[in-house]
Amino acid sequence: MEDKKLVVITGASSGFGLEMAKMFAEDGYPLLLLARRVEKMEALNLPNTLCKKVDVTDKTGLEKAIRAAEAVYGETDLLINNAGVMLLGSIETQNANEWQKMLDVNVMGVMHGMQTVIPSMKARKGGTIINLSSMAGYQAFENHAAYCASKFGVRGLTQTARLELSPFNVRVITIEPGAVKTELLEHTTDDTIIKGYNEWKESVGAVNITAKDVAKTIKFAYELPQSVLLREIVICDTMQDA
Ligand code: NDP
Repeated sequence: MEDKKLVVITGASSGFGLEMAKMFAEDGYPLLLLARRVEKMEALNLPNTLCKKVDVTDKTGLEKAIRAAEAVYGETDLLINNAGVMLLGSIETQNANEWQKMLDVNVMGVMHGMQTVIPSMKARKGGTIINLSSMAGYQAFENHAAYCASKFGVRGLTQTARLELSPFNVRVITIEPGAVKTELLEHTTDDTIIKGYNEWKESVGAVNITAKDVAKTIKFAYELPQSVLLREIVICDTMQDA
């Protein structure tokens, strides 16, 4: 079997990240899993896997964890910048701390990850970076102002990175999921918004797509040959109407 190279996944303690961790491990990839709830990642008990408690807003901590994994498994071939938060609220009333948190985790966290792996990917003319944006990265949804700002941001910064890295044969991919059931919505502090969001999904029937479907799609994009780039992937439930 061809040697599998190091895959780094941020936000691997739940949702898409956790499903990706399981799927990549099943196929024998060495993994570095990062999130704040390290016990959830350790509980997966995956082979050839390092789990580190890292907050992606802390660039030094993130870099240290990636270098430690590279010392064991070799250079990062795939970085999946998946960690993210969604705190929905109206511009009129939402606390600015929630806006700041989304911009710090969703945008700065992704930039920190990219800056950590880009030099070695450029030098060896290979590697893949996958950034999680959202359908809220190219269209508006009510009560999503700061989340949209962060995810439009991810899409923009990823397009820029693609321009900078394509001459070096480094692939840069944006994933733009629609609504998929994970823990993401639960962190919103306004219960009326959570209720409205769930009612919308139920009413249109957009409830069948799973985190596994998203994980499988991301793995498929990575496993295409290095010369083939799925630049942006929009993935949502067939019944999603917006
Ligand atoms: P979950 O809430 O289930 O998972 C989010 C992950 O991010 C968790 O593992 C969490 O771990 C981690 N995380 C959050 N903050 C930080 C931080 N500061 N540092 C490190 N890790 C952090 O959500 P999803 O799986 O749904 O979301 C994954 C990505 O997909 C996000 O970027 C999200 O915006 C995006 N997305 C999701 C959609 C959906 O409908 N589910 C739709 C479109 C995009 P911990 O708390 O342990 O640190």
